[in-house]
Amino acid sequence: MKKKICFLVSLIICCLLYGCQIEANLLESSYEESDRNVANDCALCGKRRDSLMGYYRRFDSIGVICINSWGICDSQVRCYDEDTGKEKFEQSHSSTLFHSYGEGECAFMIQGMYERGIAEIDVNYGERSIIDWEQLSERLCSGCFAKFKNMEDRETDLTKSQYKEVCLVDFKTAEVYSLEDRHTWYMIRDYYVMVDHGEDSDHITIFYAPVRKGSHG
Ligand SMILES: [Zn+2]
Repeated sequence: MKKKICFLVSLIICCLLYGCQIEANLLESSYEESDRNVANDCALCGKRRDSLMGYYRRFDSIGVICINSWGICDSQVRCYDEDTGKEKFEQSHSSTLFHSYGEGECAFMIQGMYERGIAEIDVNYGERSIIDWEQLSERLCSGCFAKFKNMEDRETDLTKSQYKEVCLVDFKTAEVYSLEDRHTWYMIRDYYVMVDHGEDSDHITIFYAPVRKGSHG
């Protein structure tokens, strides 16, 4: 009887070990496989798993990025059904979302009024809200990294050449837009954006304002 139990126990252990090995092999091969298959691992234009850009890219809307922690939020200037991807027009209640990215990092408060095509975003900066270029270069392909570098180069009034870690992003084009002080308004395709600069904060208002078409052509 004892022998039988011993045999059974060792058999089970063998099975478990073998199972583990198979699992480990599978994990390893699938990891290698996915590593090889992902041609573009860029957090802005590619398929990087820890970036929400892959999710938001299918929606025509404007988002805001906390660059160091790569937190991406939709402004909710327009709203879409997650499953069908169709745009939603009716809004039963106003939605206010709050996102914070850790101590000393930026925080967003977003109020989307998509029924009217308006969104308001309050950005609060912490003491660590300065862009970390090294970390950013690891996240992005060279083309997308250049977008950020060009954005910084265009800023003439940067204090101590420190660039803030928050920018707007057009989900459709993956273009990024600066929130530095000299910008008070701009157009992003059909979106009119106004920026009020505070001491350690920015207030952004986004209007969806496509070109109107008259009935007389
Ligand atoms: Zn890229």
